[in-house]
Amino acid sequence: MTNFSNSQPVFIARCEDYNEDHLYLILKESFDTLGIDHTVFAGKNVLLKPNLVMAKNPDAAATTHPAFARAVARLALDLGAASVTLADSPGGPFSEAYVSVVYNTCGMKLAAKDGLFALNSDFGFSEVHTSGVKLKTLNVINAFLKADVIVDLCRLKTHSLTGMSCAVKNLFGVVPGVEKFQMHSNFPEVGNFSEMLVDLAQYVTSEKTFIAVCDAIVSMEGNGPSHGMPKKTGMVLVSRSPFALDVIGERIMFGAKGDNTAVIRHLDIAAGRGIMPRNWQDIEVVGETDYDVFEFAPPDTGAGYLLKNLPNFLGGKLVDTFSARPVINTKKCVGCGRCADSCPKKTIRIGRRGEKGKKIAVIFRENCIKCYCCQELCPLGAVDTKQHFLIKLIH
Ligand code: SF4
Ligand code: SF4
Repeated sequence: MTNFSNSQPVFIARCEDYNEDHLYLILKESFDTLGIDHTVFAGKNVLLKPNLVMAKNPDAAATTHPAFARAVARLALDLGAASVTLADSPGGPFSEAYVSVVYNTCGMKLAAKDGLFALNSDFGFSEVHTSGVKLKTLNVINAFLKADVIVDLCRLKTHSLTGMSCAVKNLFGVVPGVEKFQMHSNFPEVGNFSEMLVDLAQYVTSEKTFIAVCDAIVSMEGNGPSHGMPKKTGMVLVSRSPFALDVIGERIMFGAKGDNTAVIRHLDIAAGRGIMPRNWQDIEVVGETDYDVFEFAPPDTGAGYLLKNLPNFLGGKLVDTFSARPVINTKKCVGCGRCADSCPKKTIRIGRRGEKGKKIAVIFRENCIKCYCCQELCPLGAVDTKQHFLIKLIH
């Protein structure tokens, strides 16, 4: 029997609402079941790492609901934590001014108002070295380095590039601000990028005491991680392994279509490295074992789902060639320039339609690496994607 390096049970509970007291009880039960007790937290500095991809109201389902931050903070303090701090590095500048707007819009400022947990005020970062396969050095935010325990407060979502955003992808937020765009450039195409994500998650879980708590009460389908549709799934997931949690998260998202229909590269890579089993049947589930599975609408890029149906001769790197390309929706675009700022290849320009026409973004396709950062971070959802005509034919 294979010995996996990071396979842990996944606790699942049904949960229909964001009532903080109810969540606290569910999380307490999950910690009791998984053996997460005062020995984990006593005297420790705890970092809550939510998914705050951009400034959005929690009802949009793009960001972790603040009730999770409060419930986990209460539990950590009850178990003896010395301090609880919430920190994220959203897609944009890692500055007090920018992050403050994100915290406020996402409801985290209000959640922290009574002092239950602190909002990170250190916007510094430091270089670290990893023993990763692809990722050897990177900068990480100081709030991560200062913490003893990391609680990965992810939300279950589709993702235009990686297919899903859950416990593993959420850890990308320990990389400071716009350096994330550079990482997309350094690791172009979903295969390279997913290798990097696995390296990063292995680094985080080897450096810190780690717990993943997933907000799957209302998840996101379609054009995640920012512009998809909320999808009621009614669950909370907890695990000591981000990899095991993602395998079960993948089943919840895509399992109604049948097993092995999704293409989540970072899970294939992690399983190939012997980190955890690839099949959900081989991951131990505790708590609600008879959980619901769904058929999430995939992103328009086809990531994580439609591309599975490509014939084999189009597999591997060719999938990247045939994946959808970003296109500007000129009716919605207001020329704000956020997409140009976030483009790792600097292949977006802001121009005018005619001499006095309105400002709009223009994508120069030649250098585009299809990372979809522009789509993810456009505040107006004005970046669509266009499927390759061959893929349209197949479907
Ligand atoms: S596509 Fe979106 S982010 Fe880019 S300029 Fe237009 S409105 Fe701004
Ligand atoms: S145009 Fe968009 S998808 Fe293409 S490289 Fe730039 S940010 Fe990435």
